[in-house]
Amino acid sequence: MFENLSERLSGVFDRLTKQGALSEDDVKTALREVRVALLEADVSLPVAREFIKTVQDKATGQAVTKSVTPGQQVVKIVHDALIDTLTGDEDPGKLKIDNPPAPVLMVGLQGGGKTTTTAKLAKRLKEKEGKRVLMASLDVYRPAAMDQLAVLGAQIGVDTLPIVPGQKPVDIARRAKQQATMGGYDVYMLDTAGRLQIDEVLMQEVEDVRDVVHPRETLLVVDGLTGQVAVEVAEEFDAKIGISGVVLTRMDGDGRGGAALSMRAVTGKPIRFVGLGEKMDALETFEPERIAGRILGMGDIVSLVEKAQETIEAEQAERMMRRFKKGQFNMNDLKMQLEQMQKMGGMESIMGMMPGMGKMAKQVQEAGFDDKVIRQQVALINSMTKKERANPQILQASRKKRIAKGAGMEVSDLNKLLKMQRQMSDMMKKMGKMGKGGALKQAMK
Ligand code: GDP
Repeated sequence: MFENLSERLSGVFDRLTKQGALSEDDVKTALREVRVALLEADVSLPVAREFIKTVQDKATGQAVTKSVTPGQQVVKIVHDALIDTLTGDEDPGKLKIDNPPAPVLMVGLQGGGKTTTTAKLAKRLKEKEGKRVLMASLDVYRPAAMDQLAVLGAQIGVDTLPIVPGQKPVDIARRAKQQATMGGYDVYMLDTAGRLQIDEVLMQEVEDVRDVVHPRETLLVVDGLTGQVAVEVAEEFDAKIGISGVVLTRMDGDGRGGAALSMRAVTGKPIRFVGLGEKMDALETFEPERIAGRILGMGDIVSLVEKAQETIEAEQAERMMRRFKKGQFNMNDLKMQLEQMQKMGGMESIMGMMPGMGKMAKQVQEAGFDDKVIRQQVALINSMTKKERANPQILQASRKKRIAKGAGMEVSDLNKLLKMQRQMSDMMKKMGKMGKGGALKQAMK
């Protein structure tokens, strides 16, 4: 699966891994190639562009750790971004089939693997979840399709609705519902008719069936090898019928894996399963991690880089501690603390956690620290230059005026912020002197 993309990316990162340091040019070069690779893998242009942008933003300014090569670090970033794009809130393998009998509507174009997938899924529900499943073919145009489902049903030991020649799809759907209710089935799956292309008649027919059974899940089955076309098909089906998920078939082939990435990014619909062959067992739950790992074809590197990430963080904390001890607490540090506070629920609670900081906490409270104030403080820091942030003591009247104006605040606000930074700096110095196992170290744990 995804061989083209994987090989391509491997090539890019092989070249990168041989170099010592990660320069901006390296990142750019690598990402240019990633972009080409994505396009060749049939990821749509806007999706590829967006993806690259995300990766670039994440890669730029990231600390490079000693424990991994820069190439490995980029791999990790690309990997995480792939997973981000491919992951949703839902659990792909968990179908909403709690209220028996739950209707599951299978839709898609002809030849996409709809009938095969219906049977594969029925088998899975039966064996993995112990569900009683009834399958019904609504393909009144191709009697062979009805027979095909019946044959597959017999093969996997799942019941199929008896074929009544001459019945319309909606009537078959009603009959399936009735039979499922009376027969005590947990799920009934409707294998709708496909066409070679989307047409109005097909859509209307599926809509009618949908309105009769109110499916709990409407799964679109599309051929993963068709790439961009699969994405367009998904968009159309979703607009007309409303789909709850996608099954990508033929992912066992030498497919252009980009379909998975585009599918998720463009339609926002989760990929629930992937078809990996013609056999009845060749269906797997869609797993972003696995797919991303396979796209990159370098599973080990990811865990290696995760370890490295921890090292980076430890190194950073260590560096920060050393600086704090020397009383070097500048505006960058303050900004980081402020942002942390926003995340952690206020200054007061942080101070409260530090031994001996009760008084400070009270002052902070009196100063009226809330989210709005913190946002304003951060805005002030943002309007400083790099040099000013690192050395806030250089701030004289004219600089102060400029900064305050830039943040839409008063100079008096800035003075408060500076006072706070000085107090924090003193405090950090004192705490640093309390030794290695001192309060700061405790508080930072
Ligand atoms: P339908 O017209 O959408 O119902 O498509 P079918 O279920 O009849 O499938 C068409 C062909 O594709 C059949 O020969 C299937 O065996 C094959 N097929 C379906 N899913 C997969 C898959 O995941 N991988 C491979 N290699 N073949 C598949």
